[in-house]
Amino acid sequence: MHTTTPSPTEYRKLPGVDALLRRPEVIRWSAEYGPEQVTAAIRALLEADRQAIGQGAAAPSENALIDQLAEHLQRENRPSLRPVINATGVIIHTNLGRAPLSAAAHQAIQTAATGYNNLEYDIDAGARGSRYGHARQLLRELTGAEDGLVVNNNAGAVFLVLSALCSPQEVVISRGELVEIGGGFRIPDVLRQSGAKLVEVGTTNRTHARDFAEALCGDTAAFMRVHASNFQQIGFVTKPSLAELVQIVRDSWWNDRVLVIDDLGSGTLLDTAPYGLSPEPTVQQSVAAGADVVTFSGDKLLGGPQAGLIVGKAESIEQIRRHPLTRALRVDKLTLAGLEATLQSYRRGKAVEEIPVWQMIAATPERLRGRAERWRGVLARAGLPVEVVPGQSTIGGGSLPGETLPTHLLALTVPRPDEYAARLRQANPPIVGRIQQERLLFDPRTVLPEEDERLLSTLCAGSELR
Ligand SMILES: *Cc1c(COP(=O)(O)O)cnc(C)c1O
Repeated sequence: MHTTTPSPTEYRKLPGVDALLRRPEVIRWSAEYGPEQVTAAIRALLEADRQAIGQGAAAPSENALIDQLAEHLQRENRPSLRPVINATGVIIHTNLGRAPLSAAAHQAIQTAATGYNNLEYDIDAGARGSRYGHARQLLRELTGAEDGLVVNNNAGAVFLVLSALCSPQEVVISRGELVEIGGGFRIPDVLRQSGAKLVEVGTTNRTHARDFAEALCGDTAAFMRVHASNFQQIGFVTKPSLAELVQIVRDSWWNDRVLVIDDLGSGTLLDTAPYGLSPEPTVQQSVAAGADVVTFSGDKLLGGPQAGLIVGKAESIEQIRRHPLTRALRVDKLTLAGLEATLQSYRRGKAVEEIPVWQMIAATPERLRGRAERWRGVLARAGLPVEVVPGQSTIGGGSLPGETLPTHLLALTVPRPDEYAARLRQANPPIVGRIQQERLLFDPRTVLPEEDERLLSTLCAGSELR
């Protein structure tokens, strides 16, 4: 690289801190961000420029410095957790915050956040109430269960259920279901941590009802079933149905105290089959099959906030509610507000229209093609090499592995797609798509309609993004 000896005059061209502090923009920023932060930022920028001059660079103009300062302050003050445009086509993207919430859930959270409420207050009695009363009736109605309880997340729910109902006795589980959910959450480890004793039966690919029957004894606390959320077993595989497990317990000596626990993971309230997906077991089915306790997530196919939902027999749920760990895993008011609003969409029969996860699942290929074509038109007019190609979206979030939904993708052909994708991640908001065969692909299914204009303007400016 060509360098020149720094000239003392270059250093003198740098504006002083005081001069910059007198600029009207800087006075405004001082009021907004605090004078200490602004002064520190100015000093840091000037120091960097001095170093650059030492390397032979020219001094920036005062206006250029002001621009740098604006960018610096904006970067320093933006929240760590911020919006991202999900153009990956993965609907429940765990890295991107799982389920976006419905407008009703968003509104309910805002209302709960900005004032006081009856979180633990019985309004009729004018006395202390329970936070666990709030979603209870909705959960009963929607799942058919006798009772329901909400905790922080489903991993917590599983741990709590095992701790409260099974420890230190035995839990019988198929070897095919000793799975890792992700993020290091492994069913055998959770079982051990809870204090329950793990009794593995069957084999990786085949477990029969009789394997469970033979393991049942006076030390058994429960039969547990874990839904294979994030992988598929195909070929020579079999496992007993939930109803069969319930029947084995009913026919046994210990039918008054051995439980059947079903961890559904995603746990949908709606049938997935009408959307061309294979049927994901519904919560209602598990309850109807006679499971004592069913656990599922609030932010997977339910499409609500992060939560662990526990429904089942009144006696079991009450025992869980009284366990000290329930307090450690308690759900906060914002979650309860968002969850209740989400569940109300189901009760009104409006889940598919109102809940983003279901809107995305239900979006037809024709509609998606229409959106992708509109994107293509705008971007082609801006001179970008784009086309619309058929593709596949996925559910994600450990739901319906291997299942895809047909979609139409916007494909952008650029010389170095990795670098281009990196620039798009630096945009505000960042855009995350996927790269396939040297092309950048954007799936309209997971881009919220109100994000379209932002996506398009960012892509148009893409080549200049820094
Ligand atoms: C996702 C999942 C969990 C964990 O649920 P979180 O809500 O993410 O804590 C537990 N069990 C199964 C089967 C899952 O799919």
